[in-house]
Amino acid sequence: MDKEQVNRCLKKKGYYRTKKISYKKLIIGMAVIIVVLIAALVVVLHSGTKNVLVGIGKITTAKVKEEDMRYSYYEDNGGSLLTPYRDNGAGTGRMAEVIVPYAECTDGATSDNRSNPLCSALTRGTVDRVVSVEGSADNPVYVLESGVKVNDEYLQIMENGFLLPENTLAVSTCGMSANGVKFTLDTQWAVPVQMRTEPQEYYVGYLERAYNVEEYTAEYLDIHFSRTIAFSGELDFSESDVIRSWEWIPEEDGGTLRLKLKKRGEFYGVSYSLDKNGRFEFVVKKNITTDSSPVVMLDPGHGGSDPGASSLGEEYESAVTLNIAEKVADCLAARGVKVLMTRREESDVSLDTRIAMIRKYSPTLFVSIHCDSSETPDLFGTHTFYYENFSQPLADSIHRQMAEVYGALYQADEAKAAESDRGIKFYPFAVTRTENCPSVLVECGYLSNEEDCDFLMSEAGRLQIAAAIADGIVEQLNIA
Ligand SMILES: [Zn+2]
Repeated sequence: MDKEQVNRCLKKKGYYRTKKISYKKLIIGMAVIIVVLIAALVVVLHSGTKNVLVGIGKITTAKVKEEDMRYSYYEDNGGSLLTPYRDNGAGTGRMAEVIVPYAECTDGATSDNRSNPLCSALTRGTVDRVVSVEGSADNPVYVLESGVKVNDEYLQIMENGFLLPENTLAVSTCGMSANGVKFTLDTQWAVPVQMRTEPQEYYVGYLERAYNVEEYTAEYLDIHFSRTIAFSGELDFSESDVIRSWEWIPEEDGGTLRLKLKKRGEFYGVSYSLDKNGRFEFVVKKNITTDSSPVVMLDPGHGGSDPGASSLGEEYESAVTLNIAEKVADCLAARGVKVLMTRREESDVSLDTRIAMIRKYSPTLFVSIHCDSSETPDLFGTHTFYYENFSQPLADSIHRQMAEVYGALYQADEAKAAESDRGIKFYPFAVTRTENCPSVLVECGYLSNEEDCDFLMSEAGRLQIAAAIADGIVEQLNIA
């Protein structure tokens, strides 16, 4: 083909645009582009470091697949790891494997089987030796060698499993991610891991629960590995906003990786799992993402076949919490915050699903919205609950705003105004029991009390409550 033929061929295939553009149109076009670029530059410069606020945050519904969450990690994975399913030359015993993504534990040394924040959940694939069994025949609770107790439903038990030798850890990778720091550790087997933010003093408060926090004071995150006698390699946190430094502390029953926090308010939770290569993967989160806006997960309590608390007004709790949550979402979106909702209609969402949503999306923070009800109609006002010590500052921010709203509602009676502030409390609500992010549950008032209920049924009341929750959240995100 000569040049002419080639050109004709390309034209036919549409490679060439044959239409001629006039100079006049070209100049107008370029002028428009320049104006748009200058406008964009002005917006960016004007917003400075607050560029997370440019634009409107999106509101979306969180979704998780409903599937059987119980299966053994070792069926498809973990070929390189030592397991109780193969002989390790250390004899045999009654062994347990964690077969859910997130197995809650309690303290094996006490008879108290209630959740407490000093015992963190074990990840899928964790194995340990069973020391004894408590509970009933129908609902056994296994006491494990590492010192925690775990419910039967989270475990697969091997009556003649193979015992495991002492473990060693080695740094595999360490790097920054959009929401914090991620590092992986090579391990010989999936030893039990316990995580705690320390130092922290607790006091006995509401319903005699012992884990109330006056002030969140943690300086470091301790990650304890059972049966682990050595740690090798270097973790480089020089680029991190969350962790200042680290040390390995050998102990009698294993060892602790101590991560010193740069600023305690920057620490926004931690998660760990066994990756598909059989390495421990840890993510230590910070309170804001670098590359995008913060993501707030809002959880309107109840829904669908579960209407929640009954009410003196026209709507039950599930409708009120949904409406308030939608209003909070609007307030946050207008400030550039991305919002994920656990539901946006009257649908059934189980507690397990809500917790699975937290784990899947790993939001910056989580707020569950509820209304109270009591057989005593003269109970009124608002309170906010947390579980982890690092969730207490979020509970505090939201509660201070909510208490102001109720203080104003009851301002005619000083004693009532004071009583409407029911305080910030530790309580182990399911959705707050997560190490993944700060998580609180706010009770927006009593549907069983006439004055509270009138306020909760009014558009003006709901708008005030929603604005208070949104203000409390934004205060914590430090983007106001
Ligand atoms: Zn509720």
